[in-house]
Amino acid sequence: MNAIARPINLLDLDQAALRAFFGSLGEKPFRAQQVLKWVYHQGVTDFAAMTNLGLELRQQLQQVAKIEPPRILSEQVSADGTTKWLMGFGGGNAVETVFIPEPNRGTLCISSQIGCALNCTFCSTGAQGFSRNLTTAEIIGQVWQAAQSLGHERNGLRRITNVVLMGMGEPLLNFDAVVPALSLLRDDLGFGMAAKRVTLSTAGLVPGIDRLRDTIDVALAVSLHAPEDRLRETLVPLNRKYPIRELMRSCADYVSEKHKRTVTFEYTLIDGVNDHPEHARQLVKLLRRLPSKLNLIPFNPFPGTRYRCSPERRIREFQGIVMEGGLIATVRKTRGDDIDAACGQLVGKVLDRTRRSQRIREQTQRI
Ligand code: SAH
Repeated sequence: MNAIARPINLLDLDQAALRAFFGSLGEKPFRAQQVLKWVYHQGVTDFAAMTNLGLELRQQLQQVAKIEPPRILSEQVSADGTTKWLMGFGGGNAVETVFIPEPNRGTLCISSQIGCALNCTFCSTGAQGFSRNLTTAEIIGQVWQAAQSLGHERNGLRRITNVVLMGMGEPLLNFDAVVPALSLLRDDLGFGMAAKRVTLSTAGLVPGIDRLRDTIDVALAVSLHAPEDRLRETLVPLNRKYPIRELMRSCADYVSEKHKRTVTFEYTLIDGVNDHPEHARQLVKLLRRLPSKLNLIPFNPFPGTRYRCSPERRIREFQGIVMEGGLIATVRKTRGDDIDAACGQLVGKVLDRTRRSQRIREQTQRI
Protein backbone atom coordinates (compact mmCIF):
# COMPACT_ATOMS: atom_id res chain seq x y z
CA MET A 1 0.00 0.00 0.00
CA ASN A 2 1.20 3.48 -0.79
CA ALA A 3 1.88 5.74 2.11
CA ILE A 4 -0.42 8.75 1.90
CA ALA A 5 1.80 11.63 0.82
CA ARG A 6 1.12 15.05 2.27
CA PRO A 7 -0.19 17.48 -0.34
CA ILE A 8 2.59 19.62 -1.76
CA ASN A 9 2.19 23.39 -1.34
CA LEU A 10 2.62 24.79 -4.85
CA LEU A 11 3.79 28.13 -3.39
CA ASP A 12 7.00 26.27 -2.58
CA LEU A 13 7.77 25.83 -6.28
CA ASP A 14 9.25 28.34 -8.70
CA GLN A 15 8.56 27.97 -12.42
CA ALA A 16 11.28 25.37 -13.03
CA ALA A 17 10.15 23.25 -10.07
CA LEU A 18 6.49 23.58 -11.03
CA ARG A 19 7.25 22.40 -14.56
CA ALA A 20 9.02 19.38 -13.09
CA PHE A 21 6.04 18.78 -10.80
CA PHE A 22 3.60 18.69 -13.72
CA GLY A 23 6.04 16.48 -15.60
CA SER A 24 5.89 14.02 -12.70
CA LEU A 25 2.08 13.95 -13.04
CA GLY A 26 2.48 13.11 -16.73
CA GLU A 27 1.29 16.60 -17.73
CA LYS A 28 2.80 19.07 -20.17
CA PRO A 29 5.13 21.64 -18.60
CA PHE A 30 2.95 24.54 -19.83
CA ARG A 31 0.50 23.63 -17.08
CA ALA A 32 3.00 25.37 -14.81
CA GLN A 33 2.48 28.62 -16.70
CA GLN A 34 -1.29 28.34 -16.40
CA VAL A 35 -1.16 27.70 -12.67
CA LEU A 36 1.38 30.48 -12.04
CA LYS A 37 -0.90 32.95 -13.78
CA TRP A 38 -3.88 31.86 -11.70
CA VAL A 39 -1.97 32.13 -8.48
CA TYR A 40 0.15 35.25 -8.96
CA HIS A 41 -1.83 37.27 -11.52
CA GLN A 42 -5.39 36.36 -10.53
CA GLY A 43 -4.85 35.60 -6.84
CA VAL A 44 -6.68 32.28 -7.18
CA THR A 45 -5.79 29.44 -4.79
CA ASP A 46 -8.72 27.12 -5.42
CA PHE A 47 -7.96 24.50 -8.09
CA ALA A 48 -11.68 24.20 -8.84
CA ALA A 49 -11.64 27.76 -10.21
CA MET A 50 -8.75 27.07 -12.63
CA THR A 51 -11.07 26.48 -15.53
CA ASN A 52 -8.45 26.00 -18.24
CA LEU A 53 -7.00 22.94 -16.53
CA GLY A 54 -9.54 20.24 -17.31
CA LEU A 55 -11.71 18.58 -14.73
CA GLU A 56 -9.59 15.49 -14.22
CA LEU A 57 -6.40 17.42 -13.60
CA ARG A 58 -8.19 19.79 -11.24
CA GLN A 59 -9.46 16.82 -9.23
CA GLN A 60 -6.00 15.25 -9.18
CA LEU A 61 -4.47 18.51 -7.96
CA GLN A 62 -6.98 18.68 -5.15
CA GLN A 63 -5.65 15.30 -3.99
CA VAL A 64 -1.92 15.84 -4.28
CA ALA A 65 -1.41 19.58 -3.97
CA LYS A 66 -2.54 22.71 -2.17
CA ILE A 67 -1.93 26.43 -2.43
CA GLU A 68 -1.57 27.66 1.09
CA PRO A 69 -0.27 31.15 1.92
CA PRO A 70 0.43 32.23 5.51
CA ARG A 71 -2.56 33.46 7.49
CA ILE A 72 -2.99 37.14 8.25
CA LEU A 73 -3.37 37.33 12.02
CA SER A 74 -3.64 41.10 12.24
CA GLU A 75 -3.27 44.28 10.20
CA GLN A 76 -2.26 47.74 11.41
CA VAL A 77 -2.18 50.92 9.33
CA SER A 78 0.07 53.79 10.42
CA ALA A 79 -0.78 57.48 10.16
CA ASP A 80 1.65 57.73 7.20
CA GLY A 81 -0.03 54.85 5.35
CA THR A 82 2.55 52.22 6.29
CA THR A 83 0.78 48.89 6.77
CA LYS A 84 1.99 46.08 8.97
CA TRP A 85 0.65 42.54 9.02
CA LEU A 86 1.33 39.78 11.45
CA MET A 87 1.51 36.61 9.34
CA GLY A 88 1.10 33.27 11.04
CA PHE A 89 2.54 29.93 9.95
CA GLY A 90 0.96 27.62 12.47
CA GLY A 91 2.73 26.18 15.49
CA GLY A 92 2.65 29.57 17.22
CA ASN A 93 5.21 31.19 14.91
CA ALA A 94 4.56 34.49 13.13
CA VAL A 95 6.47 37.27 11.39
CA GLU A 96 5.70 40.86 10.54
CA THR A 97 5.52 42.08 6.96
CA VAL A 98 5.47 45.81 6.20
CA PHE A 99 4.25 47.84 3.21
CA ILE A 100 5.70 51.32 2.80
CA PRO A 101 3.84 53.49 0.27
CA GLU A 102 5.69 56.41 -1.34
CA PRO A 103 4.48 58.76 -4.08
CA ASN A 104 6.05 56.79 -6.93
CA ARG A 105 6.60 53.36 -5.48
CA GLY A 106 5.42 50.89 -2.88
CA THR A 107 7.95 48.79 -1.02
CA LEU A 108 7.14 45.56 0.76
CA CYS A 109 9.55 44.42 3.47
CA ILE A 110 9.43 40.65 4.04
CA SER A 111 11.08 38.16 6.36
CA SER A 112 13.15 35.10 5.50
CA GLN A 113 13.45 33.41 8.91
CA ILE A 114 11.51 33.33 12.16
CA GLY A 115 13.88 35.23 14.39
CA CYS A 116 17.56 35.40 13.52
CA ALA A 117 20.66 33.52 14.63
CA LEU A 118 23.16 36.33 14.04
CA ASN A 119 22.64 38.37 17.19
CA CYS A 120 23.56 41.83 15.87
CA THR A 121 23.60 43.91 19.03
CA PHE A 122 21.47 46.82 17.75
CA CYS A 123 18.67 44.74 16.19
CA SER A 124 15.55 43.73 18.08
CA THR A 125 15.14 40.58 15.98
CA GLY A 126 18.57 39.47 17.21
CA ALA A 127 17.42 39.82 20.80
CA GLN A 128 14.46 37.53 20.15
CA GLY A 129 16.55 34.53 19.21
CA PHE A 130 15.93 32.07 16.40
CA SER A 131 13.16 29.60 15.70
CA ARG A 132 13.50 28.28 12.15
CA ASN A 133 13.91 29.03 8.46
CA LEU A 134 10.82 30.02 6.50
CA THR A 135 9.87 27.86 3.53
CA THR A 136 9.63 29.31 0.01
CA ALA A 137 5.82 29.23 0.37
CA GLU A 138 6.05 31.23 3.59
CA ILE A 139 8.38 33.80 2.00
CA ILE A 140 6.56 34.33 -1.31
CA GLY A 141 3.27 33.88 0.57
CA GLN A 142 3.92 37.12 2.48
CA VAL A 143 4.02 38.96 -0.86
CA TRP A 144 0.96 37.09 -2.11
CA GLN A 145 -1.05 37.97 1.00
CA ALA A 146 0.06 41.62 1.02
CA ALA A 147 -0.82 41.91 -2.67
CA GLN A 148 -4.27 40.45 -1.98
CA SER A 149 -4.83 42.68 0.98
CA LEU A 150 -3.73 45.86 -0.83
CA GLY A 151 -5.39 45.02 -4.13
CA HIS A 152 -2.16 44.43 -6.05
CA GLU A 153 -3.23 46.15 -9.25
CA ARG A 154 -5.66 48.91 -8.47
CA ASN A 155 -6.75 51.05 -11.43
CA GLY A 156 -4.02 49.38 -13.46
CA LEU A 157 -1.37 50.62 -11.03
CA ARG A 158 0.78 48.25 -9.08
CA ARG A 159 0.80 48.90 -5.39
CA ILE A 160 3.81 46.73 -4.60
CA THR A 161 6.59 47.84 -6.95
CA ASN A 162 9.59 46.77 -4.85
CA VAL A 163 10.31 43.96 -2.44
CA VAL A 164 13.12 44.03 0.11
CA LEU A 165 14.25 41.08 2.23
CA MET A 166 14.95 43.30 5.21
CA GLY A 167 12.49 41.95 7.72
CA MET A 168 13.37 39.20 10.16
CA GLY A 169 16.22 36.87 9.49
CA GLU A 170 19.39 36.49 7.46
CA PRO A 171 18.24 35.52 3.96
CA LEU A 172 21.58 34.04 2.90
CA LEU A 173 21.41 31.56 5.79
CA ASN A 174 18.20 30.28 4.19
CA PHE A 175 19.55 30.24 0.65
CA ASP A 176 17.68 27.24 -0.74
CA ALA A 177 14.24 28.55 0.22
CA VAL A 178 15.03 32.21 -0.56
CA VAL A 179 16.26 31.71 -4.14
CA PRO A 180 13.01 30.18 -5.52
CA ALA A 181 11.11 33.02 -3.81
CA LEU A 182 13.39 35.56 -5.55
CA SER A 183 12.83 33.73 -8.80
CA LEU A 184 9.03 34.00 -8.38
CA LEU A 185 9.37 37.72 -7.64
CA ARG A 186 11.38 38.18 -10.85
CA ASP A 187 9.37 35.81 -13.09
CA ASP A 188 6.88 37.47 -15.45
CA LEU A 189 4.45 34.70 -14.58
CA GLY A 190 5.01 35.52 -10.92
CA PHE A 191 5.28 39.12 -9.70
CA GLY A 192 7.34 40.21 -12.73
CA MET A 193 9.73 42.57 -10.94
CA ALA A 194 12.94 43.90 -12.47
CA ALA A 195 16.19 42.86 -10.78
CA LYS A 196 16.77 46.30 -9.29
CA ARG A 197 13.35 46.18 -7.60
CA VAL A 198 14.10 43.04 -5.60
CA THR A 199 16.65 43.63 -2.84
CA LEU A 200 18.26 41.02 -0.66
CA SER A 201 19.83 42.46 2.48
CA THR A 202 22.59 40.54 4.23
CA ALA A 203 24.66 41.06 7.36
CA GLY A 204 27.65 40.04 5.22
CA LEU A 205 27.66 36.29 4.73
CA VAL A 206 30.50 36.19 2.20
CA PRO A 207 30.03 32.64 0.80
CA GLY A 208 26.30 33.40 0.41
CA ILE A 209 26.98 36.60 -1.56
CA ASP A 210 29.38 34.70 -3.82
CA ARG A 211 26.80 31.99 -4.41
CA LEU A 212 24.01 34.48 -5.03
CA ARG A 213 26.16 36.19 -7.68
CA ASP A 214 26.20 32.98 -9.72
CA THR A 215 22.54 32.13 -9.11
CA ILE A 216 20.15 35.02 -9.74
CA ASP A 217 20.12 38.74 -10.53
CA VAL A 218 18.82 40.86 -7.68
CA ALA A 219 19.95 44.05 -5.97
CA LEU A 220 22.23 43.50 -3.01
CA ALA A 221 22.17 45.44 0.26
CA VAL A 222 24.90 44.87 2.82
CA SER A 223 24.51 45.85 6.45
CA LEU A 224 27.88 47.46 7.10
CA HIS A 225 27.35 49.74 10.14
CA ALA A 226 31.07 50.30 10.79
CA PRO A 227 34.11 51.14 8.64
CA GLU A 228 36.62 48.99 10.54
CA ASP A 229 36.70 45.46 11.97
CA ARG A 230 37.05 46.14 15.71
CA LEU A 231 33.94 48.31 15.81
CA ARG A 232 31.99 46.17 13.36
CA GLU A 233 32.58 43.08 15.48
CA THR A 234 30.80 44.71 18.40
CA LEU A 235 27.73 45.44 16.23
CA VAL A 236 27.69 42.52 13.80
CA PRO A 237 29.35 39.47 15.44
CA LEU A 238 29.43 37.73 12.02
CA ASN A 239 32.29 40.09 11.19
CA ARG A 240 34.65 37.85 13.19
CA LYS A 241 34.09 35.16 10.60
CA TYR A 242 33.93 37.39 7.52
CA PRO A 243 35.93 40.56 8.13
CA ILE A 244 35.47 43.76 6.12
CA ARG A 245 38.28 43.02 3.66
CA GLU A 246 36.69 39.77 2.53
CA LEU A 247 33.27 41.36 2.49
CA MET A 248 34.50 44.15 0.21
CA ARG A 249 36.10 41.61 -2.13
CA SER A 250 32.82 39.72 -2.35
CA CYS A 251 30.79 42.92 -2.96
CA ALA A 252 33.24 44.06 -5.65
CA ASP A 253 32.79 40.71 -7.41
CA TYR A 254 29.02 41.00 -7.12
CA VAL A 255 29.01 44.31 -8.98
CA SER A 256 31.83 43.44 -11.37
CA GLU A 257 31.64 44.51 -15.02
CA LYS A 258 30.34 41.13 -16.04
CA HIS A 259 27.35 41.37 -13.74
CA LYS A 260 26.42 45.07 -13.98
CA ARG A 261 24.77 45.25 -10.60
CA THR A 262 24.82 47.71 -7.75
CA VAL A 263 25.27 47.27 -4.06
CA THR A 264 23.83 49.44 -1.32
CA PHE A 265 25.55 49.63 2.05
CA GLU A 266 23.31 50.13 5.04
CA TYR A 267 24.73 52.05 7.96
CA THR A 268 22.64 52.44 11.08
CA LEU A 269 23.74 55.57 12.94
CA ILE A 270 24.05 54.97 16.67
CA ASP A 271 24.75 57.81 19.06
CA GLY A 272 28.40 57.90 20.13
CA VAL A 273 29.13 54.46 18.66
CA ASN A 274 29.66 54.71 14.89
CA ASP A 275 28.65 58.28 14.05
CA HIS A 276 31.92 60.19 14.60
CA PRO A 277 33.24 62.33 11.69
CA GLU A 278 36.31 60.05 11.64
CA HIS A 279 34.04 57.06 10.93
CA ALA A 280 32.58 58.97 7.99
CA ARG A 281 36.08 59.66 6.61
CA GLN A 282 37.06 55.99 7.02
CA LEU A 283 33.87 55.01 5.21
CA VAL A 284 34.81 57.21 2.26
CA LYS A 285 38.19 55.47 1.99
CA LEU A 286 36.54 52.07 2.20
CA LEU A 287 33.80 52.60 -0.37
CA ARG A 288 34.98 55.22 -2.82
CA ARG A 289 36.31 52.78 -5.41
CA LEU A 290 33.23 50.55 -5.35
CA PRO A 291 30.19 51.50 -7.45
CA SER A 292 27.76 51.66 -4.57
CA LYS A 293 25.25 53.69 -2.60
CA LEU A 294 25.19 54.34 1.09
CA ASN A 295 21.93 54.27 3.01
CA LEU A 296 22.19 55.95 6.41
CA ILE A 297 19.55 54.65 8.81
CA PRO A 298 18.80 56.54 12.03
CA PHE A 299 18.84 53.91 14.79
CA ASN A 300 15.35 52.87 15.87
CA PRO A 301 15.21 52.14 19.58
CA PHE A 302 13.39 49.12 20.99
CA PRO A 303 12.69 48.00 24.58
CA GLY A 304 15.81 46.87 26.39
CA THR A 305 18.39 48.35 24.00
CA ARG A 306 21.42 50.20 25.32
CA TYR A 307 21.81 52.28 22.15
CA ARG A 308 20.34 55.64 21.18
CA CYS A 309 19.76 57.29 17.83
CA SER A 310 22.33 59.88 16.70
CA PRO A 311 21.06 63.45 16.91
CA GLU A 312 19.77 64.93 13.65
CA ARG A 313 22.69 67.40 13.47
CA ARG A 314 25.26 64.59 13.60
CA ILE A 315 23.41 62.56 10.99
CA ARG A 316 23.52 65.55 8.61
CA GLU A 317 27.20 66.15 9.39
CA PHE A 318 27.98 62.49 8.71
CA GLN A 319 26.07 62.60 5.43
CA GLY A 320 27.88 65.83 4.47
CA ILE A 321 31.32 64.26 4.97
CA VAL A 322 30.62 61.10 2.99
CA MET A 323 29.02 63.05 0.15
CA GLU A 324 31.92 65.46 -0.01
CA GLY A 325 34.13 62.37 -0.21
CA GLY A 326 32.26 61.35 -3.36
CA LEU A 327 29.82 58.75 -2.05
CA ILE A 328 26.13 58.74 -2.89
CA ALA A 329 24.39 58.80 0.47
CA THR A 330 20.75 59.05 1.47
CA VAL A 331 19.22 59.16 4.92
CA ARG A 332 16.38 56.69 5.31
CA LYS A 333 13.18 58.25 6.54
CA THR A 334 11.68 56.48 9.49
CA ARG A 335 8.28 55.20 8.53
CA GLY A 336 5.50 53.63 10.48
CA ASP A 337 7.13 54.12 13.88
CA ASP A 338 3.73 54.76 15.47
CA ILE A 339 2.93 51.09 14.81
CA ASP A 340 6.47 49.80 15.54
CA ALA A 341 7.04 48.98 11.89
CA ALA A 342 10.43 50.67 11.46
CA CYS A 343 13.73 48.87 10.72
CA GLY A 344 14.80 46.57 13.50
CA GLN A 345 11.46 46.91 15.28
CA LEU A 346 9.73 43.96 13.69
CA VAL A 347 8.99 41.34 16.24
CA GLY A 348 6.48 38.68 15.25
CA LYS A 349 6.31 35.65 17.47
CA VAL A 350 9.51 33.72 17.73
CA LEU A 351 9.51 30.47 19.61
CA ASP A 352 13.17 30.93 20.46
CA ARG A 353 15.07 27.68 20.32
CA THR A 354 18.40 29.24 21.17
CA ARG A 355 17.17 30.47 24.56
CA ARG A 356 18.92 33.73 23.72
CA SER A 357 15.87 35.86 24.47
CA GLN A 358 15.72 34.33 27.93
CA ARG A 359 19.42 34.96 28.59
CA ILE A 360 19.07 38.56 27.45
CA ARG A 361 16.02 39.06 29.67
CA GLU A 362 17.95 37.69 32.61
CA GLN A 363 20.91 39.97 31.88
CA THR A 364 18.76 43.09 31.60
CA GLN A 365 17.02 42.21 34.87
CA ARG A 366 20.38 41.99 36.61
CA ILE A 367 21.46 45.46 35.38
N1 SAH B 1 19.86 40.04 8.14
C1 SAH B 1 19.72 41.01 7.09
C2 SAH B 1 18.32 41.57 6.89
C3 SAH B 1 17.58 42.05 8.13
S1 SAH B 1 17.99 43.59 8.84
C4 SAH B 1 20.70 42.14 7.28
O1 SAH B 1 21.37 42.17 8.30
O2 SAH B 1 20.83 42.96 6.40
C5 SAH B 1 17.51 44.85 7.76
C6 SAH B 1 18.17 46.17 8.05
O3 SAH B 1 17.67 46.83 9.22
C7 SAH B 1 19.66 46.00 8.28
O4 SAH B 1 20.41 46.94 7.60
C8 SAH B 1 19.75 46.17 9.76
O5 SAH B 1 21.03 46.49 10.11
C9 SAH B 1 18.74 47.28 10.00
N2 SAH B 1 18.39 47.40 11.42
C10 SAH B 1 18.29 46.41 12.32
N3 SAH B 1 17.96 46.89 13.52
C11 SAH B 1 17.85 48.23 13.40
C12 SAH B 1 17.51 49.28 14.31
N4 SAH B 1 17.21 49.03 15.57
N5 SAH B 1 17.48 50.54 13.83
C13 SAH B 1 17.75 50.77 12.53
N6 SAH B 1 18.08 49.83 11.64
C14 SAH B 1 18.13 48.56 12.06
